[in-house]
Order: sequence, then structure tokens, then C-alpha cells
Amino acid sequence: MPLRILLVEDEQELAGAVQTVLQRQGHVVDSSADGLEGWTLLSGEMARYELAIVDWMLPGLSGPELCRRCRAAGFVLPLLLLSARAETGDRVEGLDAGADDDLSKPFAMEDLLARVRALQRRQPSYREPVLEVGSYRFDPQIGLLEVSTPGGLVVLPLAGKERQLMTYFLEHPERIIPGSQLRNQLWDLHQEPVSNVVAAQVRLLRRKLAAYGLPSPIETVPSRGYRFLTRLPCEP
Ligand code: CA
Repeated sequence: MPLRILLVEDEQELAGAVQTVLQRQGHVVDSSADGLEGWTLLSGEMARYELAIVDWMLPGLSGPELCRRCRAAGFVLPLLLLSARAETGDRVEGLDAGADDDLSKPFAMEDLLARVRALQRRQPSYREPVLEVGSYRFDPQIGLLEVSTPGGLVVLPLAGKERQLMTYFLEHPERIIPGSQLRNQLWDLHQEPVSNVVAAQVRLLRRKLAAYGLPSPIETVPSRGYRFLTRLPCEP
């Protein structure tokens, strides 16, 4: 689901890269290189930002100060702080100032996108869209999967990692997805999961579908990853 995002970052090159990556995800991104200008944009009457990504060290107004002003003004939008400093005290200071999360520079864009998604999911008004692809209809919010088969509709519940895996597959249908990408999506980037965790999870999902008499839509593409086929193999 696209968000209106304000990016306040004075490192021009980084700001450009972040903006491009977010826009590729469909988000609408405004950016500013100055803390005070960022505050003016955020607090403007016409502003309807749903997320702000704010650098720590900024001209005009520091990142934490910007967060403090937002919270003092009663703004509830999620705030993500970018920090170049590694001191442990900073994290606490940033969170104390009202930031919801922080990310240390340098960071991988994948990591940034994961944080954005996590913040997006935390919003009470956020509702994950229902995914309809081929023979599959999945509501990630309640974890209910409906599969149209020649024999009729099969409905089954999916929870936890099964639910996340199905969501990711249906968001990327018919595409080869590397196991490493699935691992980054489904497991915390900071914990190092055992290497076969993705294969095990895919196996569990296949087994679950089989228990409902469904053929596996997940194809293993040797040494490349997995592909979710959205048409049932038995369909005419
Ligand atoms: Ca800076």
C-alpha cells in the first residue's frame, strides 16, 4: 500500500537513492535537506504524511528535535530516524525523542524497506489488501486462503510464517524468488536464521495445502529459488 513519505536528509546522494527506492515501491516521497524546512512541511496545513524518515544530524533542526516537536504537536505518524553515530546512548535518545525506530548508517536499502513495512503494519488504520491472483484469493489480515479448484472452492486458514510466506508469494506471482530474499522478508534481518529455514517453511506450507487436497503451487527452481504458480496444474 503506497504511503506519503517525507524524507529529511541532507546527504544529497543518500537522499536521492532513498527517494528512488521508495518511489519504486509506489510511495509518494517529498524530501528536504533541512530540519526546519522538514518541520514546516510536516506541520503544514495541507500536509498528510503517513511516515517521516529523518536524519539525525541536520542543518536547521536536528532529527531528534524534529521528532520531539512532532510528538509535542500530537502528530502520530511513524518516525524513522537515520543515524550515522554508533554510540548506544543515541538509540535511546532518539526513541525518547519520539522516534518509532532507528536505522544506523550505512544501511542496506532492503533493510530500510523492511523498517518502512514494519512501521506501516504498526499503524492501527492500516489494512493489508486482499490478494487475488489466478486461482488464489488471500486475505492476509485474517489469514484466510480461498482456492478455486475444479471441484469447488477450498478455504483454509494460514497463520504465522505460513501467512507471511503466502502473502509474499502472492505479491510476487510467477516470479523466481531467491531463498535469501524470502529469508530477509520473513525473518528479522538481525538474527541469523539457520540456512535451511526457508526450505523447511516452504515444505510446511506445501504440506498444509496437501492436507486440504490441493496440489503445490510452489515450484522449486534448482539453485535459483522458488516460484509461485497461480493457476492450478489441473485446470483446463
Ligand atoms: Ca546529516
